[in-house]
Amino acid sequence: MEKYLLPVFNRKQISFVKGEGVWLEADDGSRYLDIGAGIAVNVLGHCNKNLVSALRNQAQELWHTSNLYRITNQEKLAKILISNTFADVAFFTNSGTESTECAIKMARKFHSNRNDNRHEIISFDGSFHGRSIGAISTSSSQKMKEGFGPLLPGCKSVDMNDERALINSITPKTAAVIIEPIQGEGGIKIVPSKTIHLLRDICDKFGVLLIFDEVQCGVGRSGKLFAHEWVGIVPDIMTIAKGIGGGMPLGACIATKRAAEGMTTGSHGTTYGGNPLACAVGCEVLNQVLSEKFLPNVIKISNYFSQKLKAIVDSYPSIFKEVRGTGLMLGLKMNIKNDLFVETAFNQGILTVPASENVVRILPPLNITESEVDLAIGLLTKTAESIRL
Ligand SMILES: *Cc1c(COP(=O)(O)O)cnc(C)c1O
Repeated sequence: MEKYLLPVFNRKQISFVKGEGVWLEADDGSRYLDIGAGIAVNVLGHCNKNLVSALRNQAQELWHTSNLYRITNQEKLAKILISNTFADVAFFTNSGTESTECAIKMARKFHSNRNDNRHEIISFDGSFHGRSIGAISTSSSQKMKEGFGPLLPGCKSVDMNDERALINSITPKTAAVIIEPIQGEGGIKIVPSKTIHLLRDICDKFGVLLIFDEVQCGVGRSGKLFAHEWVGIVPDIMTIAKGIGGGMPLGACIATKRAAEGMTTGSHGTTYGGNPLACAVGCEVLNQVLSEKFLPNVIKISNYFSQKLKAIVDSYPSIFKEVRGTGLMLGLKMNIKNDLFVETAFNQGILTVPASENVVRILPPLNITESEVDLAIGLLTKTAESIRL
């Protein structure tokens, strides 16, 4: 019955019916080790017990009321985010794209409030910020933009390693710069700390707002709650999604009071965003991720995982070029086609996710255990072995 769906996805011919932790079971009974986690979403694995009870308890009380009324769970979730970040205020959405959209609108409104005629957004080569017209305008992929123009005027992407180009890209019309501290779709690329420092300086100097897109690298994936904490630089606005719902569609755009000053009553809105059900789950995700041993353990298991991956890379140099990334946002840069590897791995019973620059992404649940990592390494080794044969 796939013919009834808009054919925009190139789906694998498999359908999963059950998930538990790092495991997925298909309708034919076959089992897969899922180290893609629904593209960095299932941070606590599939059907985490505490998330299931948070969802179940809330489902018995109240699902949805709309933002016409106060939503206790939304206020709770905002408080957790605000107490643990640079931000003063939060707006909740249902996806990363909507979080980007809110960030772009917020930046434009900030400047429009000051009558300074700034509306242009600078982004970076390899960036991905979502699929709305606003979000594709600020993403670098030409293919994604084809046929959808005219897009937002004055958006351009620059090479993050070219300091001159970066400085020259700022004009009197620049409203904001948007960057993923670690690029996901672009191929697991860590933005150098000095580039982030430079960006903050440039933005401050020219009165430009700095937006971090932590939709993929946030919520513990890097080993910190948010990846920019490694650099010690804070943005004015930040987008969140993927991991924060642990599988519930939930996102957020958070900001400083100053950056958000244009977003007054009626200037933006959403029907579903931040509803009681999604926020009940979001609170439980953050409670677990912020519990004492959780993030240190992400770093520990990440070191274990990446060491083992490096060993595979060394054993099969014709297949792998290098290990990239940090925390549990890892990438294997391939010497063969990444799609071939993902496909062969799938046939061995392990799920990975391709990315640009011929990278295979490894984005497991953040509570993956050492013995599950061993299983993953075994299956990835078998995959490499079967390709080399
Ligand atoms: C996935 C992603 C988005 C878009 O999120 P959706 O929930 O698919 O709309 C935006 N930015 C980054 C960095 C992402 O990885």
